[in-house]
Amino acid sequence: MRRRLAAGNWKMNGTHASLDELRTLAQQHPSPGCDILICPPATLLDPMSRLCRDTAIACGGQDCHAEPKGAHTGDISAEMLADAGAEYVILGHSERRADHGETDETVAAKALAAWRAGLTAIICVGESEAQRDNGATLEVIGAQMDGSIPDGADGDNLVVAYEPIWAIGTGRVPMLPEIGEVHDFMRARLAARFGPGVADQVRLLYGGSMNPANVADIISVRNVDGGLVGGASLKARDFGRIIAALGK
Ligand code: PEP
Repeated sequence: MRRRLAAGNWKMNGTHASLDELRTLAQQHPSPGCDILICPPATLLDPMSRLCRDTAIACGGQDCHAEPKGAHTGDISAEMLADAGAEYVILGHSERRADHGETDETVAAKALAAWRAGLTAIICVGESEAQRDNGATLEVIGAQMDGSIPDGADGDNLVVAYEPIWAIGTGRVPMLPEIGEVHDFMRARLAARFGPGVADQVRLLYGGSMNPANVADIISVRNVDGGLVGGASLKARDFGRIIAALGK
């Protein structure tokens, strides 16, 4: 049985004052029915992971460099994330692919770095609106999975997030059968490459405008094992309702 995961991506939001949201969340969900993860900006990782000690909430990074250390101004290695208390790292988010030119190869190198540091990699894939309109969604997702996920993946070191680019931060969500088609495809793609045993254990998240009102419908779709949540993860009240729905 795959345990569901409620993963919050705070993106470039939050200062120390935001830790109050985390305190509220931790108090309200002492023993949730799903795993909880918050990926704050790197500046908050250390204080957040200290706060999360002895709670049900895990912390993660939003990106890492492929190298363990060196002359890479502004970058953070997977080892540094782990040192600051991270257990997970989001990789290949479409905003990083767009803003920083990250390719599938870059993402795969970062995933290997994450594994080297003992982190679980949450690898993001997703099509643009034009690609969906052209009927290329599955082809795009398949190619991103093949290129971004390194050999050696398993249910402990890998989570895959399906995030249609056009649904991120827009309030638009694919139809449930569309989500189901992609998630079934992703499970089958993992099975073809890593075997059904591994494929059965890897959690597949949906991400893109998930909120307290739509989470129950989305999670009812086969092969959806949780959510990667941006905007609705910033407030304990909203994210708490998503956690409650995923924990049922
Ligand atoms: C995201 O960026 O990972 C995301 C899913 O954002 P939002 O929930 O705000 O659409």
